[in-house]
Amino acid sequence: MYKRILVTGGAGFLGSHLVERLLDRGDEVLCVDNFFTGTRRNIEHLIGHRRFELMRHDVCFPLYVEVDEIYNLACPASPIHYQHDPVQTTKTSVHGAINMLGLAKRLRARILQASTSEVYGDPVVHPQVESYWGNVNPIGIRSCYDEGKRCAETLFFDYHRQHKLRIKVVRIFNTYGPRMHPHDGRVVSNFIVQALRGEDITIFGEGLQTRSFCYRDDLIEAMLRMMDTPDDVTGPINIGNPDEFTIRALAEQVIELTGSKSKIVFRPLPQDDPLQRRPDIGHAREILRWEPKVPLREGLEKTIGYFEGLLGSGVVGGAL
Ligand code: NAD
Ligand code: UDP
Ligand code: UDP
Repeated sequence: MYKRILVTGGAGFLGSHLVERLLDRGDEVLCVDNFFTGTRRNIEHLIGHRRFELMRHDVCFPLYVEVDEIYNLACPASPIHYQHDPVQTTKTSVHGAINMLGLAKRLRARILQASTSEVYGDPVVHPQVESYWGNVNPIGIRSCYDEGKRCAETLFFDYHRQHKLRIKVVRIFNTYGPRMHPHDGRVVSNFIVQALRGEDITIFGEGLQTRSFCYRDDLIEAMLRMMDTPDDVTGPINIGNPDEFTIRALAEQVIELTGSKSKIVFRPLPQDDPLQRRPDIGHAREILRWEPKVPLREGLEKTIGYFEGLLGSGVVGGAL
């Protein structure tokens, strides 16, 4: 039996891929998005699909629809976007979670929250395990995102304890791939676009900080598996790729793969930028029987191909 599934943030980078995977397996999908960071371009090929429905709506406001499952992804994810209107970012995480949990409660629907490795802040435990409570500045420029997502997790677990809701919480680590927003300032899209345009590659700080990059297809597979776990599996579960790289190594790899003549330049490190990040995915391996399959090199090649097409098409013109 197919299901009717709500994806909030469905016009975004990860959401649009999730929507596609759900349609491919035969489900009916209601995509809800306010187009803050998502674009119609990400989903326009789905418009007209008989099992796809698009609704422009802000999750900070109540939503009365009928669905069997909810994936809650609505939230700007890159620092420049979530810092653009920090109050709105916290509202999206907190009011959005309350409304989606209220909806799930009325419908007795399963609900999955796209949480983040940012709940660990600038971690002193490495690699990060789910039992680590994190090291988060509550009043810094990243706090609207980090604390908003932490509060959303709190709400999920309180609705679970108080109202017996069937919740699933995944903590997503840095994920990249085609359909990342070319202007969103995240490191993989920035470096690729800079390399393709022959512009300087901007490393923040000395580039010795680390991240672990997961290709989007691997990530979506883990999310789908998490939703299908038995009711007693709530998470939180880390999902991401445990291969850790310095930002400098990433820059060098992008230059090599694009054959670019770009030079590396160094810029000040933003406040509260985490020094290191790598998921411990022991729980995901055991509970979801999942691990990432796409190595960084292969994922970067696919992403570079996407941005080459985007730049060549003129969709984003010279404004990049
Ligand atoms: P994205 O910015 O491409 O997608 C977010 C989507 O949510 C966009 O389509 C945006 O328009 C929509 N949105 C924002 N505020 C909204 C609101 N108030 N109401 C309705 N829609 C709203 O980012 P993404 O990378 O696809 O991230 C998706 C989710 O995964 C986010 O919740 C993010 O926090 C989480 N996440 C992503 C990563 C990553 O590396 N990509 C890492 C950790 C967590
Ligand atoms: N809500 C919603 N859709 C629904 C049911 C509830 O958007 O189908 C919202 C509702 O506006 C409320 C929130 O979810 O503010 C939390 O709902 P809950 O039932 O937990 O709280 P209450 O309505 O009792 O405040
Ligand atoms: N970064 C960088 N140059 C850029 C963009 C980002 O050196 O042009 C760094 C950033 O300071 C951080 C890392 O790359 O240390 C990852 O940044 P991103 O914004 O992609 O993700 P997050 O910091 O949220 O993990």
